[in-house]
Amino acid sequence: MHYPFPDNSGSYWLKDSTKPLYPQLKNDIEVDVVVVGAGITGLTIAYVLMQTGLSVAVVERRTLASGTTSGTTGKVTSQHGLVYVELVRQFGQANMQRYANIYTQAMHDIELLVQTERIDCEWSKQDNYVYTTDVAKTRQFKEEAEVAVALGLPASFETDLQLPFKVQAAVKFADQARFNSYKYCHELAKRIVSNSGHVFEYSKAISFRDDTPAQVKTEHGSITAKHIVVATLVPTLPLIGRVSYGLFESPQTSYIVAGKTDSPLRGMYISPDKDHYSILPVQNDDEHYMLIGGEGHLPGLGQSQSRQQKLADYAARWFDVKNIEYRWSAMDYTAYDKLPLIGKLYPWSKHIYAASGFKKWGLSSSMVAAIIIRDLTNGNNTPTAHLFRTYRASALLALPKRIISSLRN
Ligand SMILES: Cc1cc2nc3c(=O)[nH]c(=O)nc-3n(C[C@H](O)[C@H](O)[C@H](O)COP(=O)(O)OP(=O)(O)OC[C@H]3O[C@@H](n4cnc5c(N)ncnc54)[C@H](O)[C@@H]3O)c2cc1C
Repeated sequence: MHYPFPDNSGSYWLKDSTKPLYPQLKNDIEVDVVVVGAGITGLTIAYVLMQTGLSVAVVERRTLASGTTSGTTGKVTSQHGLVYVELVRQFGQANMQRYANIYTQAMHDIELLVQTERIDCEWSKQDNYVYTTDVAKTRQFKEEAEVAVALGLPASFETDLQLPFKVQAAVKFADQARFNSYKYCHELAKRIVSNSGHVFEYSKAISFRDDTPAQVKTEHGSITAKHIVVATLVPTLPLIGRVSYGLFESPQTSYIVAGKTDSPLRGMYISPDKDHYSILPVQNDDEHYMLIGGEGHLPGLGQSQSRQQKLADYAARWFDVKNIEYRWSAMDYTAYDKLPLIGKLYPWSKHIYAASGFKKWGLSSSMVAAIIIRDLTNGNNTPTAHLFRTYRASALLALPKRIISSLRN
């Protein structure tokens, strides 16, 4: 049975949005760092650099967090699907230890930030599970849990989950979190402005100058700075940036539906199985919602209505969601070798940095990007920063493999 859903809807996370309006940039100013893009990545980087004593300005072409950040599921975790076995094979144990360490640090820093700044963002500690209903995948899941434990991550192999269907195997990461990323971003922006930083909305960056000093031009004003950080999901300026990043990462559009449920389920879930999805129960006060996400595809190849209908049917079948109140789509980029791209915009860039390719795990990765860019702007090119650098040969070389696997699917 198909349940009806709203013709046109938006993200669940925007339901309480009261948009505090920040001004448009209308003159020329000077700061230490200008960040382009006010999603979670740009605002986190601006906040973290501000904490080191730098003056910051953020320019956003629309309104705060109006990009992928408000279209997210809301899981803050170092468990990004089943990745650790594959990445250890590809990058080696020492590099993946660096990866695990920086994500552990990022998770800790985000929680500390929420607590010390008393950020009202519906922060809730939850266990995260990657699960399968396919018994043939049991060994793969056991191996993933063992590799993650060896990296010091809070992993365990499980078979007994609260889900309303039989799970054959799961990897649990304990004590992860969910939050409302839209509210989190608004609170970060408030902290930036109250510490003498600047946030400008409806201020699209139209050109960069990579010189000493560097400069970002918007339609009605410009910002001179020591450093520029491009946090626009994928670098869009100049055109060479947009085109060349296509050699290292590709976009995917995915969908989420949300409706009220009586399900007592807790935790956060995702599955690599074709007929299972990302599941996020959200309980706030007396409201219980179920978010179901998935059905990703290359942009432009979708039938969004029928894909969202599949998610709605799944929500109804397993969680008794009778009425989908919110449905939306969002896009994120994945580097072909599956590590985020963080570092200098181009290898030859002097003062411009970029962060992209978060593989639909940008909430925890925003803090990873902030830590790395803080190090780089301090002149500290650590082995961890080297692992995530943009324009990596490994991302470029993985392109043919990704093309073949997307043709097969
Ligand atoms: C369906 C879905 C579910 C997801 N679920 C999760 C999850 O549960 N957990 C998780 O960790 N991650 C998740 N993600 C990924 C995560 O949401 C993203 O990685 C993250 O939000 C990216 O944030 P961002 O700030 O880099 O990009 P955005 O939020 O897109 O921000 C970029 C900003 O730059 C602005 N901009 C662009 N060009 C310009 C310009 N020229 N001048 C000024 N501003 C400009 C845009 O308007 C935008 O506001 C999910 C992604 C999808 C698609």
